[in-house]
Amino acid sequence: MKDERVLVTGGAGFIGSHLCERLVADGYEVLCIDNFFTGRRGNVAGLLTDPRFELLRHDVTLPLHIETDRIFNLACPASPIQYQLDPVQTTKVNVLGSINMLDLAKRANARILQTSTSEVYGDPDVHPQTEDYWGNVNPIGPRSCYDEGKRCAETLFFDYWRQHGLEIKVARIFNTYGPRMLPNDGRVVSNFIVQALRGEPLTLYGDGEQTRSFCYVGDMVEGIVQLMDTSADCTGPINLGNPTECTIVDLARNILDFTGSRSKIDFRPLPIDDPRRRSPDINLAHQKLGWEPATSLRDGLALSIAYFDDLLSSTSE
Ligand code: NAD
Ligand code: UDP
Repeated sequence: MKDERVLVTGGAGFIGSHLCERLVADGYEVLCIDNFFTGRRGNVAGLLTDPRFELLRHDVTLPLHIETDRIFNLACPASPIQYQLDPVQTTKVNVLGSINMLDLAKRANARILQTSTSEVYGDPDVHPQTEDYWGNVNPIGPRSCYDEGKRCAETLFFDYWRQHGLEIKVARIFNTYGPRMLPNDGRVVSNFIVQALRGEPLTLYGDGEQTRSFCYVGDMVEGIVQLMDTSADCTGPINLGNPTECTIVDLARNILDFTGSRSKIDFRPLPIDDPRRRSPDINLAHQKLGWEPATSLRDGLALSIAYFDDLLSSTSE
């Protein structure tokens, strides 16, 4: 394993930067590529002096010719606010980006892992979501660029597997949070923590009774690394996420409690097509990888609050 060359697309983003750190620590030579749309050079600043790490500005919608043994394909904005800024580009990242990375895997004879998403299940009729559920996705709504883009990416991965015999792995990632989310990222955990720490109202969309299941980034990286290490017959898709379900209003109350903030909750309209319930069935991940999350929401939120507290105090100086 050691000395193998690994490519991480979107490696300067939130999950990608934690993954790069983990892979360098494991002894891999890591090439991180990113167009810095939602990623930051600062996220990988600690790796820049390491001889096993290299950072390249590159857009995955363009072909890439390099030698590599493994590809982790993460490039794609994940926050609804960010991926809806340029929806056509979001579809391109998922479709053209996947084709380019799959072609690279084919040329280089590399194993390739796709970070798919729970959004392939849309607003699910099945609960908790199992991998054999085909989903309930609006093909023409504001979330479709991401949801359908990711669904098409899965199609491409399985067609390259069937047609060209590529070694593929597909992870369906559920809501993940932790240090290095951008303060203005737009996702709920970072929004609520930043608002609570600033004493601003927490922007709660809808009545807050919709649910999500939040996975700490360290657990997610562990699951992704373990999936990449499975034998060739293990393609997935495999759900990776924390099955502990929580309403968004409870998340808001917990964050107010853990930060000691006196912020109020400001109820706003629910965005179109916002899924009502989401929670992963992770039996397959448990069976195939022996993986399950180890970090409770309380511990993960404490680590995230400490991170944003430091960040906000250093930027306000
Ligand atoms: P992120 O937005 O922090 O990271 C995405 C990275 O991809 C950023 O560094 C961004 O600059 C880069 N990128 C975007 N377009 C690119 C392009 N055309 N070329 C090169 N780089 C590009 O998001 P994240 O939360 O770290 O998510 C990483 C991956 O995991 C994404 O593919 C996302 O869809 C998937 N995922 C994340 C979650 C989650 O809750 N965090 C849930 C499901 C799936
Ligand atoms: N949400 C919210 N306030 C915010 C951001 C998000 O109430 O400031 C809600 C959002 O409507 C959704 C849930 O929190 O019901 C999770 O949203 P996020 O954007 O984090 O992820 P996703 O909808 O993609 O799961």
